[in-house]
Amino acid sequence: MSGAVEVDLEEVARGPEDAPPRPSDVLRSKTLVLNRSFLPIHITSVRRACVLLYQGVARAVDSEYQTFDFAAWCARDPGPERIGLVNGSMPVPRVILLVSYDRVPRRHVRFTRHNVYARDRDTCQYCARRLPRSELNLDHVVPRSQGGQSTWDNVVCSCHPCNRRKGGRTPEQSGIRLLRKPTRPAWTPFLGDAFGQTRYHEWRPFLSFVDASLRDVG
Ligand SMILES: [Zn+2]
Repeated sequence: MSGAVEVDLEEVARGPEDAPPRPSDVLRSKTLVLNRSFLPIHITSVRRACVLLYQGVARAVDSEYQTFDFAAWCARDPGPERIGLVNGSMPVPRVILLVSYDRVPRRHVRFTRHNVYARDRDTCQYCARRLPRSELNLDHVVPRSQGGQSTWDNVVCSCHPCNRRKGGRTPEQSGIRLLRKPTRPAWTPFLGDAFGQTRYHEWRPFLSFVDASLRDVG
């Protein structure tokens, strides 16, 4: 261990009374996690980020894409938002990089029966009834016999009666109205976590690649 600085996370959690904002709040706030190619893969707590940094599993990242191990990060000017250590303080690691993790996040939701049901909220897209999944199936809006593809924008959740009524026809041909035009959902496991959370300015350089999909959701 290079451990010139020892961190006592319990001490950190209690924190010095005079350090604004309260360290326990800071430790509960969020850190963006990148894989070693700088792609965002996860969001975790600052507390967990500190542990990963201390263990050498992760490095802290600044806005210039420079990375720092624990000792180097502790040596930086902590600024106003800091974490108290046994013998000093360190800047809050808002972005960390996992040094030996190179998997890429899944950019899109996989096209599966389960995910189509989830997107359509177990609701028949023709009669708007919400049903148990055993009473639902998947329907090709444009039937396969007419060249319809098995894709996000041509497959919907349908109840058995609507499915039979529609038969091998399009909604127009069968006179059945489609509730809404199906599309690929914008959510992914990672993006789902990102919604509704504060997005720190330190995250901005690394989130640009997901911003296009976030914009769809607003
Ligand atoms: Zn129906």
